[in-house]
Parts: sequence; structure tokens; C-alpha cells
Amino acid sequence: MRVLVTGGAGFIGSHLCETLINKGHQVFVLDDLSTGRFENIEHLTDITCVIDSTLNQEVVRDLVKEVDVVYHLAATVGVQLVVNQPIRTIINNIRGTETILEETCRYRRRLLITSTSEVYGKGARAIFHEDDDRVIGATHLHRWCYAASKEIDEFLALAYWREKRHPVVLVRLFNTVGPRQTGRYGMVIPTFARQALLGEDLTVYGDGKQTRCFAAVQDVVPAMVQLMETESICGEVFNIGNNESVSMEDLAKRIITRTKSSSTIRYVPYDQAYGPGYEDMRHREPCLDKINKAIGYKPAISLDEILDAVIEDTRQRLRRDV
Ligand code: UDP
Repeated sequence: MRVLVTGGAGFIGSHLCETLINKGHQVFVLDDLSTGRFENIEHLTDITCVIDSTLNQEVVRDLVKEVDVVYHLAATVGVQLVVNQPIRTIINNIRGTETILEETCRYRRRLLITSTSEVYGKGARAIFHEDDDRVIGATHLHRWCYAASKEIDEFLALAYWREKRHPVVLVRLFNTVGPRQTGRYGMVIPTFARQALLGEDLTVYGDGKQTRCFAAVQDVVPAMVQLMETESICGEVFNIGNNESVSMEDLAKRIITRTKSSSTIRYVPYDQAYGPGYEDMRHREPCLDKINKAIGYKPAISLDEILDAVIEDTRQRLRRDV
């Protein structure tokens, strides 16, 4: 098949392209290289890469016409970036998805859109189920513009399915990690790995008791492909992630141990890390029952395996940078 991956030069996108090529598909990438990097896909031969934005409707239309199915990953992501550039976040995430939906519907191309566990907001539940209520913070707290933009994407996609029978699937990715993820936009594991390898303090935000579940990109990507290939699934939202929960304090300790680093932990107040009035969520864990029932999904890669892979990748990058 001919497959378009928007955001294909990003961390998750590049792993998806690799998987699709290994399955024998012809892959097209649309990426504006804002947070994605060409190095992420330069090892992939037989790939067509268009450097442009999903906001460019003509380019989107030409590419969508060329292909059979579309994976839409392009978005402004990373808490640090979202907080610093809320206009860019809102416009890219809403208008970009709007354009992709319009064009894929015009040519009836099956579409998978990546949403995010952020849409659950600061809901009090320990485990988030797809049908749970969402609790999003006040509009002057810019962090929430990312969740709100992705919620609109979800509403619009589900409306396209309901009103036009446009075949679209939504996935809510929980913290996804693995090689090639950069810490530049705030992601915690590559940040801690880099700090530990450089012998710097590991910057744990808040009290460090907040928890997350990290999923390996090698678990997440095949699940996305399987959902795309299961054509009977349309107009549905699925969590994808892992259930192994860890506090940020423990995460920092584990990374220090696994890198045999002399680094210590430095606790940084949220205000200092992200500016005044920042709200973090205490816990975030996916309910995976729905995706398990649909495609038999079960994450197979443990947190320690993920950490070792990211540490090794960071080590190699640091060597290259020197
Ligand atoms: N975090 C941290 N130190 C850092 C970067 C992040 O303690 O240098 C924390 C952050 O406050 C959050 C968790 O790690 O509680 C995960 O952050 P990330 O940005 O990776 O993803 P999020 O779950 O916030 O989308």
C-alpha cells in the first residue's frame, strides 16, 4: 500500500515509517521539521519526504490523493514547547487536523489520528478509561491548550465519522518513549538520561511523587498499525500505553543506578520549571481493556528495558555531539 505519515520525521513517526517499510509499504512523509529531524529517517531508503506543513492544504491534498491510507501524527507537542508557544500549538493542532480530515474525507482515505492522554486532564481517577469525563484547567493556564486542541481534533474526527461516514480511528497515546526521543521539549526520560550521563543534577519537578506509565515505542507503533489494518474499526477512540507506574523520584533514582552516574537529584518547583501557575497531573495510567479486546494489545516491553534502550541511545548521541 501507499501510506502517508504526517509528522513522519518525529520520534514516533520515524518508528512508524520503519515498521511500514518493513511490511513492504511505500511510505510518504509530510513533516515541517519543526520538532522532527531529518536524521530520524535518513537511514530509510525508498521513502518520499515532503518538507512542508499540514497547514498547507494544496500539499496535503496532492499527497492524500497519492496514497491509500493516512496516519496523522504531525502536531506541536512537548509540555515545554506548548507552554512557551501556545498560539503555534493551537493553530497547528486544530487547523492541521482540520485540513487532514477535509482532504482524507474528500478522497475517502482511511485515517488514523494520534490524540493524547492529556485530554483526560487532571481527572481524579487513577486509571483513565476512554469514556471518562475530562477535567481541564482554566484557560489562562497555557498547558491546557494542548489538551483542548486535541479534544477539538477528536470531536471533529468523530463528527466526520458520524455525519460523513469518513473511516477514522483515534488513538490516545500515553507517555511514549524510546530511542530518538529528544528531551528538548520537556520529555522526562531523555532529559534524565542526558543529565545522568553528563553527571548533572537530575531535575525532578515538584515533590517527585507524581506518577506516569511509560510505553515503549516498539509496543505502541505495531498497535497503531493493527488498528489501521482492522477496517471494521471506525469512529472509535483507543488508549495505547503501558500499566507499569513509576514516580518521577523513583524514575530518577533508577536512571542514576542504571547509568552508574554520580549525579544527584535536585527538586525544582513547578513555577521555576514551567512558569507561574503550572498544573501537573498527579497520576496517569491507561485502562487498556478496550484495545486489548479489539486487537489483543498487551505491552511487552518493561520500563527497565525502555530505560536501557534510551540510555544507550542518549550515550551514542552524546558521542556524536562531541
Ligand atoms: N518532569 C520532571 N523533570 C523534568 C521533566 C519532566 O520531573 O526534567 C516531570 C513532569 O513534571 C511530569 C513528568 O515528569 O510530572 C512527565 O513529564 P513529561 O513532560 O515527560 O510528560 P507529561 O506526562 O507531562 O506529558
